[in-house]
Amino acid sequence: MQIHEYARPADLETAYALLLKGKTNRLLGGCTFLKRTNLKIGTAIDLQDCGLRYILECEDAVRIGAYTTLRDIETNDVILREFGTMLRDVLEHLIGVQLRNQITVGGHVAARFGFSDLIPTLLALNARVRFYHGGEKTLWAYMQEVRPEKDLLIELILPKEGRRGKVQMMRLSYNDYSIFCLVVSRSGDRWIVSAGVFPGRARLAELAMEQMNRTPIRKQDAAQLAQRITNEYRFGSNFRGSAGYRRELCRIFARRAIEELADDYTCDT
Ligand SMILES: Cc1cc2nc3c(=O)[nH]c(=O)nc-3n(C[C@H](O)[C@H](O)[C@H](O)COP(=O)(O)OP(=O)(O)OC[C@H]3O[C@@H](n4cnc5c(N)ncnc54)[C@H](O)[C@@H]3O)c2cc1C
Repeated sequence: MQIHEYARPADLETAYALLLKGKTNRLLGGCTFLKRTNLKIGTAIDLQDCGLRYILECEDAVRIGAYTTLRDIETNDVILREFGTMLRDVLEHLIGVQLRNQITVGGHVAARFGFSDLIPTLLALNARVRFYHGGEKTLWAYMQEVRPEKDLLIELILPKEGRRGKVQMMRLSYNDYSIFCLVVSRSGDRWIVSAGVFPGRARLAELAMEQMNRTPIRKQDAAQLAQRITNEYRFGSNFRGSAGYRRELCRIFARRAIEELADDYTCDT
């Protein structure tokens, strides 16, 4: 990237005004992605003084500021207590501690990277996002926007729903990018199924979820539901894996997750 001017605003209002001021103005997160691009940036807006690095426990949710690093999230006790190891399981594969100390969750989520396995995990945690101008919405709604307007992501909101979940990814080596990722979670009878790296942006399996949320799920339903989830997604091929391979991973991951999370069959009579 090439930066023409650098600004370090002390508040969000100034940061957002600067963002809108020029077509090529950009917000800076940890710059790990931006540094690898050839972008010509008019004004680079450094968010480090805007007070967005926090993990805040509220009564019904945990709020994570956009400037919080992935390492902050991975090592946070409140996150571990409320969401188990789901986030840690996915984050610990991201290269190394130095890089995770640099990457901001806002930079990662706002960019909606198609190679992300963090985003499917956040979707499975029923995450919401809050933007400076666009306000609060579900992460899923943001993922579906065709051309999101230029905006500043302020925070992520993870509802405390007591979700249990299973995150599964396939990679060629421990720190490589994922070939495919599937995350299933449940809170009582409310299931969420999300997947990513098709390759392409993370998506919920909405039709399968509708069925799963209508009737109690038993372990013996796993194979049939896994097929249903797989049928709902479209898979593609790239140098990391073929569509057929990803389809097979999806079916196996979904079956394993449902078998692990579903209740045992009980006979009422
Ligand atoms: C060596 C290497 C290996 C990697 N391996 C993986 C991997 O295995 N899996 C994986 O998922 N990713 C991987 N990544 C990608 C990494 O996840 C991204 O580089 C990172 O998420 C970008 O975050 P950042 O904070 O550095 O954002 P930046 O690079 O600073 O910004 C990214 C984009 O987000 C915008 N932005 C920043 N903050 C905000 C905000 N608050 N609101 C709105 N927009 C904002 C910026 O303007 C920019 O467009 C890897 C990266 C590197 C360098």
